[in-house]
Amino acid sequence: MNPSEIAQEFLRLGRCEACPVVDMHAHYVPYQGIYRPPHTPEEMMAAAERCGVEAMVSSGHLALVDMVLGNAEMAAVTEAYAGRWYGYAVINPNLAKEAERELSLYDQRPTFVGLKFHPSIHSYPLTGEGYRPALAFAAERHLLVLTHTWGHSAYDSPSHLAEVAGSYPDVTFLAGHSGYGEFDACMRVALEHENVYLELTAAYAVAGLLEDMVARVGAEKIVLGYDLPWFDPYYAIGCVLMAHLDEAARRAILFENGRRLLAPRRRI
Ligand SMILES: [Zn+2]
Repeated sequence: MNPSEIAQEFLRLGRCEACPVVDMHAHYVPYQGIYRPPHTPEEMMAAAERCGVEAMVSSGHLALVDMVLGNAEMAAVTEAYAGRWYGYAVINPNLAKEAERELSLYDQRPTFVGLKFHPSIHSYPLTGEGYRPALAFAAERHLLVLTHTWGHSAYDSPSHLAEVAGSYPDVTFLAGHSGYGEFDACMRVALEHENVYLELTAAYAVAGLLEDMVARVGAEKIVLGYDLPWFDPYYAIGCVLMAHLDEAARRAILFENGRRLLAPRRRI
């Protein structure tokens, strides 16, 4: 029997009053031809609320292919759920003028708490010139930047992240997927850079990894995400609940770290 009181309450009730969840890596449908059961904003919010999600932060799928339309859509969707649903502005570094315009709209979109980079989808290295205006903007405002990271990627490997994290100490980076496939390297980056956090989407399912991250980097540097609506929240939450961690680490990962990172960036 898992001795965690948080785990036991989740098993009993499907959520835990004393330990809500903050989800730092979600999206918003639609995405290409793939159907997802939590489809509408109402269904996505219901999926989140079922497991006690206090706040979630999304970037629009549409914004990854059409930054202008997609960011506007994400702003509208999150504003309808202000206080519970937040957004990242997606920046496409291939489109300098449009990206500049998206940054200029940031202040008018009060649910946004940071920027989302996906160097792999945009086939553009995180260290490239095209990201610099957005990084400078994020540094000026001390924003979060959730960037996709993937092991051995030509665009967003842990070594790319190390380079920009060192150059922009005022930006708080969330390493999406924790550099999946190059976990050791990503853990070193998070350990060496105060402003780098490990984000768990997909990585949560790797046996023993969470325990390793907590031991080597510390629970306070790990945040939860599960790419809603790609993956069900309960899978990710269950991995944290059942990992061999103490209760303080569980709380930090599920809830406290996300809340602490959001607090100074929330405008609404
Ligand atoms: Zn994602």
